[in-house]
Amino acid sequence: MEEMTSAKEHPMTRSHDDELNRAVAHLNGATRMVALTGAGISTEAGIPDFRSSEGGLWNDLHLMVSLSSWGFRLAPERFYRQVLKLIPPLLKAQPTRTHYLLAEFERMGKLTTVITQNIDGLHQQAGSRNVIELHGTYRRAHCIDCHHAYTFEEIQNKIHQQELPPRCHRCQGLIKPDVVLFGDLLPPEALARATQAVRECDLLLVLGSSLVVYPAADLPQRAREAGVPLLIVNLEPTPYDRHAEIVIHTPLGEFSQFIGDRMGLKLHPPGASPQ
Ligand code: NAD
Ligand code: ZN
Repeated sequence: MEEMTSAKEHPMTRSHDDELNRAVAHLNGATRMVALTGAGISTEAGIPDFRSSEGGLWNDLHLMVSLSSWGFRLAPERFYRQVLKLIPPLLKAQPTRTHYLLAEFERMGKLTTVITQNIDGLHQQAGSRNVIELHGTYRRAHCIDCHHAYTFEEIQNKIHQQELPPRCHRCQGLIKPDVVLFGDLLPPEALARATQAVRECDLLLVLGSSLVVYPAADLPQRAREAGVPLLIVNLEPTPYDRHAEIVIHTPLGEFSQFIGDRMGLKLHPPGASPQ
């Protein structure tokens, strides 16, 4: 027999009732939150993640090798051919409710920093200002020899003119997207700022990350050492679930809608419809 629910009951509340109520209480009380986000915050914008058991890009070993740091050095043309397949969803993507929720928290003065492992730029597009991009951004690039900077549009133009891989117009060096590839080191300055931010916050939201890519996955541990509570929302379990105050395994869109409704927040720009 099906359980009866009142017409007003939110679809999520039956399975996650307790965690959601505690999440709302924590979010209401917090005054200097930090969010750590991963590819799972952008899957609802149509950008595939790496490690979902279904549809994650890392299920394709060739892709993983081509897109690594040594893949770029050894076979730059193949690297760019693979990148070209990944670009269309990035160009089409619009911020999700969760991106807007974080931008709204910052605007309200409740959240100081978004630390993201994503390269898609959707946090800034949603209005977040203080964003630490641990893995860089696909929207910029540079020459690996003379370090001249290129915009994404400049790279696109070169590719449209069949220049593959694109080369620097000054020195003919290879142009590399400003993205931290598998095998690259993280920019030390960004990691230092992120570590400081998680130590100083009063609640760390971990949203849509498998928490297996180091050193980003170390940040929840740094927060815990400073006595900061963790709120984890992810479809699948993470290695930090047992250390978190609150863990909710649910799609982020549903979580953010619920939080937005309960806290009376607007989760999309005026005139636009939410994702
Ligand atoms: P990941 O792929 O390792 O993990 C993503 C997690 O998000 C998974 O555990 C999955 O269960 C969860 N998830 C997927 N959709 C979700 C949803 N709708 N709601 C809640 N949870 C959801 O991602 P990661 O931890 O960020 O590490 C992957 C690396 O890949 C990062 O370094 C990042 O640079 C890169 N990456 C970025 C993008 C992007 O910019 N959007 C996309 C793919 C990969
Ligand atoms: Zn150059």
